[in-house]
Amino acid sequence: MPAHLLVAGGGIGGLAGALALARKGHRIDLLEQAAVFGEIGAGVQLGPNATKRLHALGLAASLDAIAAKPEALVVRSAASHSVLARMPLGHSVSERYGAPYLCVHRADLHALLLDAVRTHGDVALATGARVAQVQTSDDLVCVSTVDARAWEGDALIGADGLWSVVRQQVEDVATAPRATGHTAWRALIAQSALPAALRSGQVDVWLGPQLHAVAYPVRGGEGLNVVVIAESAPAGDARDWDQASSLAALQQATGRCGTELQSLLDAMPDWRAWTLNDRPPLTAAEGMARGRVALLGDAAHPMVPYLAQGAGMAIEDATALADAVGRGGPADLPDAFALYAAARWQRNARVQARAHRNGEIFHASGPVRLGRDLAMRALGAALLDQPWLYGG
Ligand SMILES: Cc1cc2nc3c(=O)[nH]c(=O)nc-3n(C[C@H](O)[C@H](O)[C@H](O)COP(=O)(O)OP(=O)(O)OC[C@H]3O[C@@H](n4cnc5c(N)ncnc54)[C@H](O)[C@@H]3O)c2cc1C
Repeated sequence: MPAHLLVAGGGIGGLAGALALARKGHRIDLLEQAAVFGEIGAGVQLGPNATKRLHALGLAASLDAIAAKPEALVVRSAASHSVLARMPLGHSVSERYGAPYLCVHRADLHALLLDAVRTHGDVALATGARVAQVQTSDDLVCVSTVDARAWEGDALIGADGLWSVVRQQVEDVATAPRATGHTAWRALIAQSALPAALRSGQVDVWLGPQLHAVAYPVRGGEGLNVVVIAESAPAGDARDWDQASSLAALQQATGRCGTELQSLLDAMPDWRAWTLNDRPPLTAAEGMARGRVALLGDAAHPMVPYLAQGAGMAIEDATALADAVGRGGPADLPDAFALYAAARWQRNARVQARAHRNGEIFHASGPVRLGRDLAMRALGAALLDQPWLYGG
């Protein structure tokens, strides 16, 4: 008998999870707190580990239609613009890992997943459904929302992001996310609005003391997404991913950058800010599931974006969870969730730890920075490629 699963949260992870589980024949109620499903206007890089799983969900053609396919990853000094390392992406990644490296607009990826979920008859979507309370018994989970609606299901999947409420069900003692002291500023522009010299078909990364910047194409190359992350006091409400900001606020944190990077920053309109929080890496499978409750994506393992894999890990979780549940029935769910957690926690912990370390390396100054630059120049693509990650 198929299971009836409740999913809290309709972000990239929750939608991917609902789709993957519905494709195994299960019935899903997905509860999203927002009044309308949607995503903010930033970009997401998808390594081949993530695109491979999206392809397996039947989304290859629709993903191809919205994505940009960057030719290369090029890392430079933020001060001098000199190239520190370069790794070809494009065909060489597809050939090596069996799936492409893509860059997408978050809203496009979210809309694509939402469309796939909507056209699948077994997923019911509820909006304005902010999960407030969860009660579990041996064979049932009851969820109630702040507006006093209630749902019952065989199990609950918490895909409710960094500030997860469902997470309390798997923790003995509730803990809060930690402030990283880093803020991300991001902006998006049509490439046609940029001077030719600033347009780009690759992933560009600039490294400077206490900051780094990333720019990459989205929307089939029509848009350019720029993110600058700097060590700075938290800006505004930590829970608000979309705070209005400005180039002046950004440069108060970074100072002026080298000429080339500065020209790009000067050209970008409408800066938005995002205060970065994370959690220490998972230490055990129990951090991802307990009984009839499983966590997925940022709810389980929020991370800093310095490996560009938070959404990637949420997508990996989604397909791994569906594989563990398979076509099993309600009675099998606790064992399936335990299997899922055992299969996923170490990889998620490794990515969390590596993302954190990348931040230290990217933002280094003094001798560490000199050593980093020497190593990057000497090793190039060998240092940027991540077979353990992209091939996983
Ligand atoms: C600057 C920046 C750049 C990034 N770049 C990349 C990148 O290039 N590649 C990459 O893979 N990742 C990237 N990430 C990480 C990625 O954005 C996240 O890891 C990913 O979005 C997590 O997805 P999620 O579905 O788990 O959580 P979320 O996207 O946070 O979704 C959670 C959903 O749950 C809903 N919700 C919350 N609470 C409740 C509740 N109580 N009841 C009901 N619904 C609720 C929310 O409204 C939301 O829709 C980046 C992050 C940042 C900050």
